[in-house]
Amino acid sequence: MTGVVVVGGGIGGLAAALSLLRAGLDVHVYEQASELSEVGAGVQVSPNASRILHRLGLAAALAASGVKPLAWHQRRWADGRTLLRAPLAEALEATYGCPHYQMHRADLLAALVEAVPPERIHLGHRLEGLTDLGDAVEARFAGGRTVRADVLVGADGIHSTVRQVLFGADRARFTGCVAYRGVVPAERLAALGLEVTAQIWMGPGRHFVHYFISGRRSVNFVAVIERETWTRESWTDRGEVADAVAAYVGWHPQVREIIGAADETFTWALFDRPPLPRWSAGRVTLLGDAAHAMLPFMAQGAAQAIEDGATLAACLRQLPPVAALRRYEGVRIPRTARLQEMSAGNKTRFHLPDGDAQRERDDQMAAGSRSWSFNALGWLYEHDAAELSLTADRLRT
Ligand code: FAD
Repeated sequence: MTGVVVVGGGIGGLAAALSLLRAGLDVHVYEQASELSEVGAGVQVSPNASRILHRLGLAAALAASGVKPLAWHQRRWADGRTLLRAPLAEALEATYGCPHYQMHRADLLAALVEAVPPERIHLGHRLEGLTDLGDAVEARFAGGRTVRADVLVGADGIHSTVRQVLFGADRARFTGCVAYRGVVPAERLAALGLEVTAQIWMGPGRHFVHYFISGRRSVNFVAVIERETWTRESWTDRGEVADAVAAYVGWHPQVREIIGAADETFTWALFDRPPLPRWSAGRVTLLGDAAHAMLPFMAQGAAQAIEDGATLAACLRQLPPVAALRRYEGVRIPRTARLQEMSAGNKTRFHLPDGDAQRERDDQMAAGSRSWSFNALGWLYEHDAAELSLTADRLRT
């Protein structure tokens, strides 16, 4: 049986472990932290990701805590005017066969942890190096422990050690955006009468996203602001609620009230990387943010990590390790590169200053409003990452 070491126990690593286990592989996850945890924030799980999670047996867990939003509602920053309102919920589920969920990241992680047998997860293991021995790969962890496997998967995030070992040291690119994230108890916002929609407010140099999570008991927000530099050493830090409110002076009161109702916020410097030409060398490959870090402006980072695991499992089921990893990256790189580029493009699109370009964007959005989720994102949502032949056929056309 092919033995696989997955380095990193985030959403990507755990979802991959589950897909690989279901494909009959002998999988072990090694995570540097002493416990598995996620940041206190929301995550959108679009149909291309929920399709895989359902197949992995997580449908009930997702339904228990996930919220199905009625629509994407894109709005103008100052007056709240609707720019685009595209159906989600039933309409999307009827078309693509799987729901779009918005949920707390901790709930998604908990569902994954619950599904992976505990003896397969090894906490307190920080990978320091690896050696490709030709017929196996050896991982070295802090403290000197070594483990051998047929395949090693670096699911170790944007600052991936595996990536550095494979392709040399490089720095993630600061995108000029900083995010404040917060979660607010929904009852504090009752007076606003918020619809169960994903609302995206667009304005000059910044945007604001909010949606319900945790069975509608909480509202998650992400406030993204352009900033020239990020001087702190850490890429995530505690932020001041007052600073976040102040960054939205002149914006619609709904935006400022949601931020102001938070007890705390965290700031994130948003980094990305240009698409890599290769993800694999010999028996070692990358997955998730380690392979394709992107701005969160398509809400696809975690979804693509989940897809990666499904495709990797399908490749390893059909081919010997080295050939499987080549096939995996060949299938995955074009799709994730497209999303990296689209995510970066949304920075400009969302943050246009008021003027001709903004008016043109608004007209385009109004024209495509009702059919937008289907026309613009059909290629994304209908994709089944475990269907290898289908994926390969699509790539050829
Ligand atoms: P990570 O979650 O970073 O996990 C990596 C794991 O590897 C960690 O547990 C880490 O401790 C471990 N690790 C690191 N180094 C080592 C080592 N040397 N040895 C062992 N273990 C190691 N995506 C969506 O799909 N939908 C969204 O709505 C969405 N919203 C977002 C909003 C914001 C503001 C941001 C910043 C991101 C958002 N994303 C979203 C993106 C998503 O969060 C990431 O793409 C996803 O979490 C990446 O998962 P991962 O498992 O690849 O990496």
